[in-house]
Amino acid sequence: MNDILDIHTHTIASGHAYNTLYEMVRAAAGRGLTLFGSSDHAPAMPGSCHEMYFCNFKAIPRELFGIRLIMGCELNIIDYQGNVDLKRWLQKRLDYGIASIHDLCYEIGTKEENTAALIGAMENPYVQIIGHPDNSRIPLDYESLVKAAKEHHVLLEVNNSSLKPGSPRPGARENYYTMLKLCRRYNTAVILGSDSHCAADAGCHEQAAALLAEVDFPEELVVNRSLKALGEYLECVR
Ligand SMILES: [Zn+2]
Ligand SMILES: [Zn+2]
Repeated sequence: MNDILDIHTHTIASGHAYNTLYEMVRAAAGRGLTLFGSSDHAPAMPGSCHEMYFCNFKAIPRELFGIRLIMGCELNIIDYQGNVDLKRWLQKRLDYGIASIHDLCYEIGTKEENTAALIGAMENPYVQIIGHPDNSRIPLDYESLVKAAKEHHVLLEVNNSSLKPGSPRPGARENYYTMLKLCRRYNTAVILGSDSHCAADAGCHEQAAALLAEVDFPEELVVNRSLKALGEYLECVR
């Protein structure tokens, strides 16, 4: 599968990641990517940066080491309505938003509540991606999730880190089998994300790509294949 981009990544600004933005982009460029996106954790994540970090992205060159760079945020979903932890005016300034549930910032609810939280986040115009919907400790109704992602024109992520040995998200592989089967049925697109917290993993989608190959997932539903495909979801790359 053609895979030219990675836009779920973290830098030292997240507080528990270990490389700078420049180091991350250089590693991604070294792997031959065309587009790199940086998505540090929004402020509710313990140890992450102040909200003002997300206010000054204009300072950053949008081409570095010969590849294109976009600047977003991994927003923390904080309630069952799908509200997130960054002020609206700051969300508006992002190139893109990934909304994810992290148990440090969210009280895990029932399957219905967790699903409502993710669908609520999809209704936010500044959210284009739902991050790692794959953790068995945060149960989800995948049929409702996949249908809603199609309806709201939001991408569902297949998170490479969740599939690596020692992943903090149990059951990810089985949950992706379920999710991908439904994505195929409802024609819902996905994005592979490394969720890299160090440069060694920037642009690495090995486990996620292997899983897609294993289930023979249609390439036309994977936006990593081209900027044009991603551009259908992210205005900043149109
Ligand atoms: Zn996350
Ligand atoms: Zn992440």
